[in-house]
Amino acid sequence: MTKTSSVVEQVRKQLFIGGEWRDAEGAATLEVDNPATSGELARVADASVADGDAALSAAAAAQSEWARSAPRKRSEILRAAYELIVERTEVFAELMTLEMGKPLAESRGEVAYGSEFFRWFAEEAVRVSGRYSVAPNGATRLMTMKQPVGPTLMITPWNFPLAMGTRKIGPAVAAGCTMVVKPAAETPLTMLYLAQVMEEAGLPAGVLNVITTSNSGGVMEPLIRDPRSRKLTFTGSTPVGRTLIEQSAQQVLRVSMELGGNAPFIVFDDADVDAAVDGAMLAKMRNIGEACTAANRFFVHADVAAEFSEKFAARMAGLTMGDGMTDGVDVGPLINAKAVDKVAALVADATDRGARVVTGGGKGEGSGFFFTPTVITDLPGDAAMAREEIFGPVAGIQTFTDEADAIRRANDTEFGLVGYFFTRDYARVIRVSEALEYGMVGVNQGVVSNPAAPFGGVKASGFGREGGFEGIEEYLETKYVGLAL
Ligand code: NAP
Repeated sequence: MTKTSSVVEQVRKQLFIGGEWRDAEGAATLEVDNPATSGELARVADASVADGDAALSAAAAAQSEWARSAPRKRSEILRAAYELIVERTEVFAELMTLEMGKPLAESRGEVAYGSEFFRWFAEEAVRVSGRYSVAPNGATRLMTMKQPVGPTLMITPWNFPLAMGTRKIGPAVAAGCTMVVKPAAETPLTMLYLAQVMEEAGLPAGVLNVITTSNSGGVMEPLIRDPRSRKLTFTGSTPVGRTLIEQSAQQVLRVSMELGGNAPFIVFDDADVDAAVDGAMLAKMRNIGEACTAANRFFVHADVAAEFSEKFAARMAGLTMGDGMTDGVDVGPLINAKAVDKVAALVADATDRGARVVTGGGKGEGSGFFFTPTVITDLPGDAAMAREEIFGPVAGIQTFTDEADAIRRANDTEFGLVGYFFTRDYARVIRVSEALEYGMVGVNQGVVSNPAAPFGGVKASGFGREGGFEGIEEYLETKYVGLAL
């Protein structure tokens, strides 16, 4: 048995509903491919509309008892699941590399990051509290209590198959919500394996239900419109997010949206250029550039642009591309052929407008979905890659000479997830952090993701926060009780 088949065989390929593993209606299945080879990896259950309804029924049936469960119990289940995930790091890492493509070292990084949400929310589960106060007129008392929102629908993307799930499941379990999770069709194996781990950790039947489907719109829309659902949390693209917000409006469903980004990465003339290059490598190349937080537009001060571009291009050119399961590989394949075509079209558009390719610029060889790490200079501001998410290993560099102009250009986008900048001037750190219209700002660092911090965006990047003290609030209602004396 090969290493590949042994981890894939450990995953149950059915739907997880009401604590039972069952086939989809009509035993329908959908194919999961390996993007490094484009070959079939496995087949998993392909849920129908009726299967989706059964999953919501299970979540709704389990809600009231789960809401009354002891916070300590919920905390200990999360802690046990955290420990199991860490213990099975290699299984999770190999599954993610096989179905999504990122190199094994990065998948291990995601296991560390994703599991940490369970540890964090195991600690938060026992810290939920309300307040008690005297009304200003002294005549009544005001009390608030926090209660679970209720059955929650969760839709997650393919780019971080584990962490985008644990970031939602962790706080929901901690708060006492039940849930129906629908992972992306490209990467269902990691979520199915996570459900097995949660079951082993002692999560009661019906609290977590997982449905995999090739018909995400058809299966999820009736659930979004169903009054038994009390919340929808979505991580994915802005166009799909807009559709889901519209569908949620009918029953005024509580909604959290973690959507697309168009991150600026600004290097000021007083920056440590070598540190900025290190930061750029992380901000651009983490997850093969397929991250909502990926640096999408580089603005470099004209005085340091040549040095930065040269050093950055040398580092990008030195990366090894290949199957993420192979030792020494830095850059895996993109998720599918469509993604490669999109990135190639963005590069062609940039060069048509006069930009210069310093390194990379083309598709990789073989049957996998590869695109070479690419650095482009002299990028015109109206190039398509400066306006939309690249979602691949391509960096386009523009220059500036004035701080106010850099900020204006950085903010000139409908998105507002994260912005990065590098400077040694601490007054500038405060000034620019305040001026950037983003939910998150990275100063002299190329990664902001941290389970203890509130992750989320503004503008078309969405609303709601995941992680930090704020993360559990998304799954709690505040009830006010007025007490007359
Ligand atoms: P996507 O196409 O929007 O898909 C995301 C999820 O939504 C998948 O599970 C997908 O299922 C499902 N979906 C698609 N259409 C749907 C519909 N009509 N109704 C219900 N569900 C639907 O995004 P993606 O390509 O997977 O992920 C990349 C995007 O996610 C990027 O824009 C990225 O910036 C964003 N992202 C944001 C964050 C953040 O925290 N802000 C984090 C990671 C990624 P199927 O795939 O099965 O169709």
